[in-house]
Amino acid sequence: MGYKMIKIENDCSCCERCGNCGAKRVPHVYCDGCGAEVSGDSKLIRIVGANDDAWLCEDCLAEWVESVTVTTYAADLVREMHAEDV
Ligand SMILES: [Zn+2]
Ligand SMILES: [Zn+2]
Repeated sequence: MGYKMIKIENDCSCCERCGNCGAKRVPHVYCDGCGAEVSGDSKLIRIVGANDDAWLCEDCLAEWVESVTVTTYAADLVREMHAEDV
């Protein structure tokens, strides 16, 4: 399985002169959701069963969770239950 969010990029702007400075093949990691570059110690999340081949940054995860969930308050549920009683 390939990692499409990892792109090997040439960060060197000097190689005409330097020959090989080590910056010619630098891995850059991008979020599959928003396409933003993430740093090496960023947490990436894969949603099992949904976006099986996508690694998402924490922002995208929060967005995804919001899109597939509904939030309420416990007290509201109790109120709803009482409303159904009458
Ligand atoms: Zn160079
Ligand atoms: Zn993202």
